[in-house]
Amino acid sequence: VSDLQAVLRDVPDFPKPGIVFKDITPMLADPRLFGRVVNAMAAPFRGQHITKVVGVESRGFLLGAPIALALDAGFVPARKPGKLPHRRIIERYSLEYGSDGVEMHEDALLKDERTLIVDDVLATGGTADATARLVQRLGGQLVGFSFLITLDFLEGAKRLGPDKVTSLLSF
Ligand code: 5GP
Repeated sequence: VSDLQAVLRDVPDFPKPGIVFKDITPMLADPRLFGRVVNAMAAPFRGQHITKVVGVESRGFLLGAPIALALDAGFVPARKPGKLPHRRIIERYSLEYGSDGVEMHEDALLKDERTLIVDDVLATGGTADATARLVQRLGGQLVGFSFLITLDFLEGAKRLGPDKVTSLLSF
């Protein structure tokens, strides 16, 4: 964990003044660390019969796709509005820095599919909560959330239900 912490870069005032952004790109660039992160984020959900991993645009794609393969599950992208080509459903949310929406294809999940939501950072939980609502609207069974980093002071885990949230690091 300490070498992982060492490569996560704090970028002050990005993307807006007052936000300290956790930059994960140095971790992605190191194949051993990246592999360890993927395995560790998948580990709590091994043996839980996950059949779909939903990754949240865009850093959730980078982590969610290899985690899906590690769990022998399929991958589903949850995207910003207007990016998905097929018929889709939307949920709106307010973000630490602004407001936005998230969409999924309406046929992305089968009924009762055991689903894991993955993203890099849990901040206020607005994005993950909106993604969970999409999963529920599609009839999926939400097993949990796997994050690389939780920003504890924003209390996102409280919003999502602490028993459903796993995270490698918290600040
Ligand atoms: P929330 O909806 O929980 O407030 O914000 C989480 C979303 O914003 C995630 O999709 C996450 O990627 C992004 N995000 C918020 N703060 C940070 C940060 O400090 N670093 C990174 N990499 N992403 C962040």
